[in-house]
Amino acid sequence: MTALRPAAFIDRDGVLNEDRGYVFRREDFVWMPGAQRALARLNQAGFALVVVTNQSGVGRGLYSWQDMLALHAQMAQDLQPLGLQFTAIMACPHHPEAAVAEYRQACNCRKPQPGMVLQAAQAHGLDLSASWLFGDKAGDITAGRRAGVGHCWLIGSAEDAQASGADGASDSLLQAVTSGPCATRPHAT
Ligand SMILES: [Mg+2]
Ligand SMILES: [Zn+2]
Repeated sequence: MTALRPAAFIDRDGVLNEDRGYVFRREDFVWMPGAQRALARLNQAGFALVVVTNQSGVGRGLYSWQDMLALHAQMAQDLQPLGLQFTAIMACPHHPEAAVAEYRQACNCRKPQPGMVLQAAQAHGLDLSASWLFGDKAGDITAGRRAGVGHCWLIGSAEDAQASGADGASDSLLQAVTSGPCATRPHAT
């Protein structure tokens, strides 16, 4: 039996890239300052990098699942020079009122539901209690809590962190990583 690995579950829009609303074009995907460095720190500290993103724009018919995959491939390519790889990019295309019939459902993966976190944990042998989740919305925090993620951190104000039940808040992913997981596990392998 192999040991479970801790993960960093990371929201996409508003944490890794600027949230411009239903981002799917490469030219609209703008990395947040320090986000790539934060991923490198997490990787170095031994965390599996897992993106968890609600993409109801697919269900709403604003862009296709293929469009989204192409953007995610581009993200992965941006990280290649840094020697970084996502363990998984989990995306939920559903919405209860989706225009596209096949995606119209109240699913268990759309945050604040914990489905994406739980699926990734099972597929990749992740230790949820030793993991961190980073998100910019209350729904991210709730999803992490419901899944049993040990540390749920808001990228936002301290006030919003308190309202969402987060363990704390930082202005950016890099700040969060530096004061959180990489402060306690500086050079784990
Ligand atoms: Mg977000
Ligand atoms: Zn879903």
